[in-house]
Amino acid sequence: MPAILLTHPDCLIHEMPRHPERPDRLRSVLSALRERGLSSAMNHGLASEIKLNVIEQVHPRSYIDDVLSFEPRQGVSKFESDTYMNPGSSRAARLSAGAVAEATSRILAGESNRAFCAIRPPGHHAEIAAAFGFCLFNNVAIGARVALQDPSVKRVAILDFDVHHCNGTVDIFKDDPRVLVCSSFQEDFYPHRFLDYENQHIINTPLAAGTSSSQYRSLIESTWLRQIETHKPDLIFISAGFDAHRDDPLGEIQLIEDDYRWITEMIVALANIHSKGRIISTLEGGYDLRALGNSAAAHVAALVS
Ligand SMILES: [Zn+2]
Repeated sequence: MPAILLTHPDCLIHEMPRHPERPDRLRSVLSALRERGLSSAMNHGLASEIKLNVIEQVHPRSYIDDVLSFEPRQGVSKFESDTYMNPGSSRAARLSAGAVAEATSRILAGESNRAFCAIRPPGHHAEIAAAFGFCLFNNVAIGARVALQDPSVKRVAILDFDVHHCNGTVDIFKDDPRVLVCSSFQEDFYPHRFLDYENQHIINTPLAAGTSSSQYRSLIESTWLRQIETHKPDLIFISAGFDAHRDDPLGEIQLIEDDYRWITEMIVALANIHSKGRIISTLEGGYDLRALGNSAAAHVAALVS
């Protein structure tokens, strides 16, 4: 059962002026997967635009309409302080969410037990009814809600190792104990919402600036492992952001490519015990093109092995 790789060239159309979340990020990820022979070993698919009623499992229709109607006919318009839209942005956002929803359905149908969604815009900052931090729709949350519609799925986990906190994912699932959310992030990092939120199924793991690989690994082992083992998720989602890499211009954490291999192997081992091996990973941040490509390749190599 080869792993599934979902992407779409129209995810490149979304473009913001002089912005770190740029189309070259996705090109860099896809070329790194190609160069290492990873994508040729995966079952490729073109994502489809998600239907609006599926987005409505996470975001209210009024918010969805706000996003879709805001798209300019030409030029670029600012949707919120860090998030812009140009002609094609809403298509890219619907393709991104569509990739995660489709990956979820195909994994649950037994077609494979691993999927990677190479998409943009990212999603984990999008709250129930608000865009933040380059994100319009919360892709991973939509996947989790699709999964929970399946009667065989009682619990899922969303593991987020992006250097920024997944405020949107926490907002969406803060009152839903079926969804374990584990987020490691540089402390006090953007967008400063839900950072101190406490609930048994919401695990916030702040990292001091300068956190090293070994410090990171022991923190993750001490804060995530037992929670995941106790939760016994039927399916694991990964919000795979690679901006905690030491070369990333947006963060001050000192991870290297091998740390992404390490954390992915840990998640694979947990999924093999609790989740029938089923993992859906989706691209979030990562803004140094070389570090992003290399780290994503290390992650996907561990994911598909
Ligand atoms: Zn990030």
